[in-house]
Amino acid sequence: MSHYDIIIIGTGAGGGTILHKLKDSGKKILVLERGTFMPQEKENWDTEEVFRKERYHTKEVWKTNGDEDLHPGTGYWVGGNTKVYGAALLRLREKDFEEIQHAGGISREWPLKYKDFEPYYTEAEKLFQVHGKMGLDPTDPYRSEEYPYKEVSHEPRIQELHDDLVKEGVNPFYIPLGVKLNESDAIKSACIRCNTCDGFPCLLHAKSDADINCVRPSTAFENVTLLTNAKVIRLNTNVSGNEILSVDVEIVTELNQFTADIFILSAGAINSAVVLLNSANDAHPNGMANKSSQVGRNFMKHNSMAMIGISTKPNPTVFQKTLAINDYYWGDEEFKFPMGHIQLLGKSNKEMISADAPFITPGFVLGEMVTHSIDWWMTGEDLADPDNRVSVIDGKIHLEYKENNLEGFERLVDKLKKILYRIDSGYSFLPHSLYFTKNIPLAAVGHQCGTARFGNNENTSVLDINCKAHEINNLYVVDGSFFPSSGAVNPSLTIIANALRVGDHLLSIMK
Ligand SMILES: Cc1cc2nc3c(=O)[nH]c(=O)nc-3n(C[C@H](O)[C@H](O)[C@H](O)COP(=O)(O)OP(=O)(O)OC[C@H]3O[C@@H](n4cnc5c(N)ncnc54)[C@H](O)[C@@H]3O)c2cc1C
Ligand code: SF4
Repeated sequence: MSHYDIIIIGTGAGGGTILHKLKDSGKKILVLERGTFMPQEKENWDTEEVFRKERYHTKEVWKTNGDEDLHPGTGYWVGGNTKVYGAALLRLREKDFEEIQHAGGISREWPLKYKDFEPYYTEAEKLFQVHGKMGLDPTDPYRSEEYPYKEVSHEPRIQELHDDLVKEGVNPFYIPLGVKLNESDAIKSACIRCNTCDGFPCLLHAKSDADINCVRPSTAFENVTLLTNAKVIRLNTNVSGNEILSVDVEIVTELNQFTADIFILSAGAINSAVVLLNSANDAHPNGMANKSSQVGRNFMKHNSMAMIGISTKPNPTVFQKTLAINDYYWGDEEFKFPMGHIQLLGKSNKEMISADAPFITPGFVLGEMVTHSIDWWMTGEDLADPDNRVSVIDGKIHLEYKENNLEGFERLVDKLKKILYRIDSGYSFLPHSLYFTKNIPLAAVGHQCGTARFGNNENTSVLDINCKAHEINNLYVVDGSFFPSSGAVNPSLTIIANALRVGDHLLSIMK
């Protein structure tokens, strides 16, 4: 059995980032990733393969509503879900860290505040090469520095949309994006601004994902060992249960065990809960670190909707995901509660929307719809509910989820539709099932978080403020599990910033 200073489980936004932070500590680090490197192949940009055939999704079948099958829209790769994400990298707002009254209930306060995260957001934006422009988003939190890279420009139809929105009194802003784009010198640009980015892997490795930006550079270090196809099954403790001694790992089909001084779990909010629950022993009868009974509970994933607005004007845009709106994030004159966030999606094509159009819609009509459509993505905060939970029953992953806090979100959707109608950017609207062709909406677990929240009270949280399990001296969790509330912007930048923060803490205690 080999011994390491640190074992990291999972290489997504959380795991990949903390590996990057710790790689030059000189510590002997083992990284266990159940997936492989994603193949760099033509199918990366093939809509049929990616969306219809779900080439990069796991074939696992989970359960929901008791015994119903659930086909999760998630995949296991080096880099985790950042391999296919839209790379919209936004900070939470200052108030997201406070207790907030929503129409549907209370959003929990975080034990740390925006000021504690701000330096790490800045570091995260540098690491993931985020392009943006400060001062345009009316809800933008305080920033100590401008974005490290210039905003990604709008193509002409989106600039026109922008100008029309401004005339309506709306304050659109550039989506902060992690793409390696150099608009002033095309020869030096890795990114080519293509139409297969959001939801697709990048064939050119020009998207800032956890694999390319964190894991590959880290494996060049002699002290770092990465094992792929290595699925962690359980963690084992000493007799008193206050220290993890070893991890059981299935490598292809063979069971292995490794020991370490420090364990960092980052398998994604759902699978980290699964690993903890599967690790029950005499000292932790309800699952590892689960004295509070909160492991797996409070699962959140955002209220979200993808929508196609059909306009009378053609939309020849290639790279569409450049514009966002936060004017209604905290509500408006008519509705004093938070509503959520609006952003453009990657441009849809015929194959994508044929899944959503009425069955009898002829191909030429689909074609016409696509050439005139503008595609939107909206997220509203869902609230932590202990009954929304991950559990493991007879070895199967169960995900139970009841939607909540929908009123503000529905108003947001309605608001956007009315504005688009007025500015002739949407006379008709289609839902867009997009990345997830089955069992919408629960299968859409891309924004999963909350299943091992951090806090000061060990009776109501799983992790302390350093994301160390309250009950265990050497176990940290750094994926989306730690969120006490979900906010309404995409979660990755906060996961990345937090992993950098926890990494700093570990570096300070390992000195
Ligand atoms: C289509 C899509 C678009 C998205 N777009 C955006 C966006 O634009 N902006 C944004 O902020 N977020 C976006 N997201 C969400 C974003 O990808 C996630 O929030 C982020 O990747 C979560 O990071 P994580 O570290 O918690 O988990 P993940 O990135 O999922 O990483 C978990 C890792 O653990 C590994 N793993 C799982 N179980 C085990 C095990 N038992 N043993 C070993 N390894 C294991 C997995 O293979 C994976 O590498 C999107 C997601 C999807 C699916
Ligand atoms: S837009 Fe750029 S980063 Fe995105 S997939 Fe295309 S080349 Fe890659």
